[in-house]
This record gives sequence, structure tokens and C-alpha cells, in this order.
Amino acid sequence: MRKLGKVHLVGAGPGDPDLLTVKAARLLSEADAVAYDRLVSDAVMKMVPSRAERVFVGKESGCHHCSQDRINTILLELARRHRTIVRLKGGDPFVFGRGGEEAEYLGRHGVEVVVTPGITSAAACGAATGVPLTHRGLATGVRFVTGHAKADAPLDLNWASLADPDTTLVIYMGLATLPQTSAQLIAHGLPAETPVLAVQNGTTPKERRLLTTLSEAPDALTAACFRPPTLLVIGRVAALADAPTLIAEAEALALSEAAPAFRSVVAGHA
Ligand code: SAH
Repeated sequence: MRKLGKVHLVGAGPGDPDLLTVKAARLLSEADAVAYDRLVSDAVMKMVPSRAERVFVGKESGCHHCSQDRINTILLELARRHRTIVRLKGGDPFVFGRGGEEAEYLGRHGVEVVVTPGITSAAACGAATGVPLTHRGLATGVRFVTGHAKADAPLDLNWASLADPDTTLVIYMGLATLPQTSAQLIAHGLPAETPVLAVQNGTTPKERRLLTTLSEAPDALTAACFRPPTLLVIGRVAALADAPTLIAEAEALALSEAAPAFRSVVAGHA
């Protein structure tokens, strides 16, 4: 039987190709096949050599073709046909990237897996907006939390432990569940005026950012039409962001009526 190829689980970083690691760039240049998803930017995909096979394995809701099981099978198939396979994942493959599941599955099927870390969006969006996530005197720690909830189920998080004013919370995939997050954190004691920074498409030409507060965030981000991929940074450090602010809810409502003009203000902020 033909020897199986090696699968590299590679972090593609947040989008800006300058934020790839040198190793990721080298592996891309050597790849026979590249499997990628929606979070991998076009600019990074431009670095894939034209001779390499490209396989899109993006998950869209309701698309079973790209369930995690299907992705695992596709990677195994690629390992049967190629020598060097790169599985590119947005940010870091082991931060909410399901890289662990892919590595486990491939390992069980005798495929050698090597993991190359990437710059996770928390680090990238913090840097891009001037927010040191653990700024001395403002935060003694940072927690990376998923805001993803299973179809219509409430978000099952330990709110009492998360509502800590000394810890920066970075919420991945948190836009849809932001109303719950905001209400629960306030109910568990985090001040309503705690700063919240939202960054959409951080480090790409489509980047948008908005600074708001915990109580106002759900309405403000809806009014400003934020969409995934958006990262939320909740905590005192967020106030340091170089980002436009919505101070009053009234202002947010007025702006939602003037949505097109507002969107251009947000989008135009470099
Ligand atoms: N492995 C990735 C995270 C995958 S989960 C990483 O390490 O960054 C997907 C979530 O990541 C998105 O919903 C969003 O919250 C965040 N995200 C990924 N890329 C982003 C970007 N360029 N800007 C803002 N948020 C991003």
C-alpha cells in the first residue's frame, strides 16, 4: 500500500498574510494540497502555489457536506493521494478551531500530523486596535471563551466565574449570543458600563471596530450591522482601543435610523 502523506494543521493567522509564521509560509509553498475554510483570507490563499490542489471545507450552517466528519474524511482522502497536505485554519488551529478533533481522527487512521501554531484573533485584534489584553493595573488575566451555543440552546457558561472585573474576556463566535452574555454578566455583577470592543474581520481590508459598553453592546452592534467573524473584548482594557465609540443608547438608536452613514463612519476608521 502507498505510504500516507503527512498532514500539517497550520494556523493561518487572522487574515493579514504578513501575520503568517515563516513556517506556515514555507509549508504553503511546499504543499501538494491545501484544505481551507471561510476564515482563511484571500490574501493568504494567494500564497498557495498554483500546482497545489485546493479543497474548500468551509462549514456553512445547514451544509452537511462540510460537517466535521466530512472534513475528517476529506483530510484522510488527501493523505492517501498526496505527500504534503496543509490543513489551513484561521487564527490558531488549537484555539476554537477543532484542530484537536482533526488531529485525533487522522492519528487513529495512521496519518502523521504536525501542528504549526498561528496568531489567534485575540492577539491580532488586540494588537491592531492598541489593546494590551493584560495591561498592568487593568487586568490580571485574560480568558478566551466561546460564545457559540448549540442550535437555540442557551449559552451554558459559568457566568459567576466569568463576571470578574479584573479579567479580560475575549469572546470568539459571540455575536449571536451577545444579548445573553451581556445580560448574564451584568446579572452576575459586572458593571453595565464595562467597556466592550468589537472587531470584525480584524487585520483585513474589511476590518471594522466599535467601542461600546456591556449594557449597550447588543443594540449597538446590531445597529452597526456587525457580522461574523467578530471578536468581542470585554473588560477595562477595551477602553484603550483606538475605535469609534457609541456612548449613549439614544445615540445608537438615532444612528440605526441613519445606518448607511454610520456604517461608512465605522468602516472608514483605519
Ligand atoms: N482558530 C481561530 C478561531 C476560530 S472560531 C483563532 O484562533 O482565531 C471563529 C471566531 O474567531 C470568529 O467567530 C471570531 O470571533 C474570531 N475570529 C477569527 N478571525 C477573526 C478576525 N480576523 N477578526 C475578528 N474575529 C475573528
